[in-house]
Amino acid sequence: MHLLRGALGRGRPERRVPRPSEPGVGDAAPAAVVVVLSRFALAVFDLDGTLLDSDAALAAPYVALGVPASEVTYGHVVAEECARLGLAVDDYLDRYDVTAASPYAGVEELVAGLRRWAICSNKVGRCGRAELERLGWRPDVALFAEDFGGGPKRVAPALDALGVDDPASVVFVGDTAHDRAAAAEAGTGFALAAWNPRAATLAEPADLVLARPIDLLGLLMA
Ligand SMILES: [Mg+2]
Repeated sequence: MHLLRGALGRGRPERRVPRPSEPGVGDAAPAAVVVVLSRFALAVFDLDGTLLDSDAALAAPYVALGVPASEVTYGHVVAEECARLGLAVDDYLDRYDVTAASPYAGVEELVAGLRRWAICSNKVGRCGRAELERLGWRPDVALFAEDFGGGPKRVAPALDALGVDDPASVVFVGDTAHDRAAAAEAGTGFALAAWNPRAATLAEPADLVLARPIDLLGLLMA
């Protein structure tokens, strides 16, 4: 487990082994491990910058349309960013290469270890679904910009689609301040995908900060 820092499982029940000094625990009791991590039942993920190392793929269409690379920012709804830059969304999408972005190192192992999971992304659906298909990823729920009325993403619709009754049993994994706010709005936990170096600079004290994708599995119920 390479959790860098962060409180665990807001609102989740914790199990602990009683200390030897507590009533009912005799001298023969073994040395106890007191700290037991709270766990989440399942995870919902942002896609770009979280599971996919997609900065270059996302920037390429803007650059091809004449936007200086230094002006490209990430984590936005494409339609909003195109409006800001004075571009047509279709011109952007025509130039977006759905084969260009690769998973971050360790993400394939993480995905292989997930039982029930979801994607919640600002990406245009046809692009995101094409990438999921290419990668052979089969989340139980995958919601994209169109599912949020054009965006920005919200986590609650994913919880509804998953049939989740207790938002606190879910951790949303993302790479931006907006992802953190989306998790808070929905009442889920939030884990920062700090394997993305840009995300690692955004860590706040209450975040679960994950150094490696596989570390998330340690926060999920077996
Ligand atoms: Mg992202």
